[in-house]
Parts: sequence; structure tokens; C-alpha cells
Amino acid sequence: MPYQDVGTTKRKSMTPTRVLRIWEAHEGHCVTCGGQIDGTRDAWFIEHVRALELGGADTDANCGPAHLSCKAGKDADDHSRAAKAKRNKRAALGIRPPSQIKSAGFSPAPPQRRASSPIEKLKLGYQRP
Ligand SMILES: [Zn+2]
Repeated sequence: MPYQDVGTTKRKSMTPTRVLRIWEAHEGHCVTCGGQIDGTRDAWFIEHVRALELGGADTDANCGPAHLSCKAGKDADDHSRAAKAKRNKRAALGIRPPSQIKSAGFSPAPPQRRASSPIEKLKLGYQRP
């Protein structure tokens, strides 16, 4: 089964200078919905257009400003696609989930033997002859 090998890219630091440079490159437009971001009134952040977990580069060209409200939908899609890519890679490499690995199990234990016979209870008190 062919698969596209994707790895997670290491994240670099996001300095204020870099944030401003990315904002200006996109003129404050959200990379997720395309809408204009009001930098002072909207909650926003720098988004990786191609997610790092999908092999996206941590370069300014792969980053852009995005509404915080647009984050959840993109993150869910990114995580779903990354999980599918990892499933495909595991299948291509023959890595099976633990539930499909069957062991021979333990052999049944031999019957227990007693070290001694049980102590008979002492008969105390009056006994009929
Ligand atoms: Zn948006």
C-alpha cells in the first residue's frame, strides 16, 4: 500500500518581529476563512497553513494570521488527516495494533498437590463412647 510519508516539523520561535512580518505579508487576512482580522478587537494567532504535523514547514511562507475562532475547525481536519497518514504508514510498514497480536498464552497449570493431609479437627468436650 503506497503512503505519503509525513513527519512532524519542529516548531521555531514566533518572535514579535516575525508575527508582524507575517501579518503584513497577508495584510491581516485570515488564512483559514479569508476574512479581514481586526487586530485589536479579534482574537487571532499565527496559523501554519500546512500543519506541522502534516509535514508543513515552519517558514513565514507557510504561516499566516488566523482568527482564533477559525482554529477549531482547521485543527480537527489537520488531526484527522495526520491520524489517517499515520494509519496508512503503519499499515504499509506492517505495524499492527496490539489487539491483532496473539500470543500463545500460558500453558495450564498442573494440578495442585497438597504438602500434607488436612489436620483433622480435634474432638473436644464430651464424646459418646
Ligand atoms: Zn478566520
